[in-house]
Amino acid sequence: MTDPLKQPLHFIDGEFRAGIEGHTFETINPATNRVITQVAEGRASDIDAAVTAARRAFDEGPWPRMSAVERASHLVTIAETLETSGDEIARLEVMDTGLPIKQARSQAARAAQNFRFFARMIQDLGGEAHRVGDEFLNYTVHKPVGVAGLITPWNTPLMLESWKIAPCLASGCTAILKPAEWSPITASKLAEIIAEADLPPGVFNVVHGFGETAGAPLVTHPDVDLISFTGETTTGKTIMRAGADTIKRFSMELGGKSPVVVFADADFDRAVDATVFGVFSLNGERCTAGSRLLVEDGIYDDFITAVGERAASVRVGDPTKAATELGPLIHPEHLDRVMGFVESGKQEARLVAGGERPPGLQEGNFVQATLFADVDRSARVFQEEIFGPVLVASRFSTTEQAIELANDVRYGLAGYVWSGDLTKAHSVAQALETGMVWINSHNVRDLRMPFGGVKDSGLGREGGHYSFEFYCELETIHVALGNHHIPRFGTNGPARETAKGGSH
Ligand code: NAD
Repeated sequence: MTDPLKQPLHFIDGEFRAGIEGHTFETINPATNRVITQVAEGRASDIDAAVTAARRAFDEGPWPRMSAVERASHLVTIAETLETSGDEIARLEVMDTGLPIKQARSQAARAAQNFRFFARMIQDLGGEAHRVGDEFLNYTVHKPVGVAGLITPWNTPLMLESWKIAPCLASGCTAILKPAEWSPITASKLAEIIAEADLPPGVFNVVHGFGETAGAPLVTHPDVDLISFTGETTTGKTIMRAGADTIKRFSMELGGKSPVVVFADADFDRAVDATVFGVFSLNGERCTAGSRLLVEDGIYDDFITAVGERAASVRVGDPTKAATELGPLIHPEHLDRVMGFVESGKQEARLVAGGERPPGLQEGNFVQATLFADVDRSARVFQEEIFGPVLVASRFSTTEQAIELANDVRYGLAGYVWSGDLTKAHSVAQALETGMVWINSHNVRDLRMPFGGVKDSGLGREGGHYSFEFYCELETIHVALGNHHIPRFGTNGPARETAKGGSH
């Protein structure tokens, strides 16, 4: 097993290295806030070394030139090791992020599935071909874009990293991963696993560090061709501005404030189960969390009571225990931020459940599963992403009002609709300003489907073949099959100046 107390290093050009300037930073266990270990802290010089290695591996190395089948076999090896290391990865993730162990195990399994899925998908990737009469054949080929900068957040870190790394490497790009500074440990574990899969040096690199000092130089580096970013909307805007001078391709997976719309004719119990799980799983630190509950008048009081009772019974505590449903938030700064929202919710709405640090958990960043009801749409807790175990609820009386309330935020990542009337559910789903909607379902994702948001929740889609649209250039090739007509210029004798001043 990897020693978690060992210093996580950068992984550059096939080697684990300390930072060139020798800086380090601490990573802490959110259940105790005690330091786990010191992590190598990358700066512009480390980023430059990683980009140089990735550029060379792309321009001169075998990786982009290999057949898709060969690249896929490396990805399958990575998936197999991720599977056999699932328990270890889950334990590291629990220690570094506070994710409850059961949920960390499923995230580790999902990371392996991502590698297997994109290994299959790249082998099936086809282009278009059109015959144009007898004269032409036109076709498209996918070519890897080049050197990719992958910048990831601290929630379910390894799984989200795999979501970018697997299609990026499958397509033939080379990569520099800059993991989040609050959850660095599993990125180094992933580098170990990838190193064992014998990828050519420089194909995959990890540089740890902070956004401003390691992320920013990756974004502005002229030899980086694309940036896939997942994180906060404000960071996404900064990154797009910073990358504009070097004309990079961007994929932006940003924040969310997703509505759960529950009609009176919904399956009440299933809707309660999904609502509670959808906002309190993954410690509420989930971009697609259903964090705004909109309930139809007729069942509003009963639904709020049921969700409130369940929220009050969510088991908060030690994330290493199998029975724990809600672990500590990632960092004391994030706890302060979430508690700031809870305090403003207490001024703006009716507190139904939670709202405090759980009794008996004085160490660590714990907060109770919290529900506010009768929340006005103008409230801060209705409008802003809290990214913690806090659910806000409001009532509606007509379908039009439900749609209007659901859309009245700047985000548009996910939406959930609960109704026994499927015609109504479909029309509401299509009226939601959001990238993804689940009808009578919690967030179950088929890997073939596109993932992404609208409005302030992001740009572009990843997932399935959409990931390859991002990591590949599509080149169109036009082939003449016969002697088609070519207009002949310059065949009418010597050129003469036509008029004073010439022509344009
Ligand atoms: P964050 O924006 O603070 O940081 C994300 C990453 O960006 C980190 O690696 C950070 O170091 C880096 N970064 C920060 N400033 C940078 C800069 N100037 N240049 C380059 N890199 C920089 O986000 P976070 O707090 O780590 O994550 C939580 C956010 O992520 C939430 O808003 C959540 O909704 C969002 N998220 C979105 C999705 C999605 O798929 N839409 C998935 C998970 C999380």
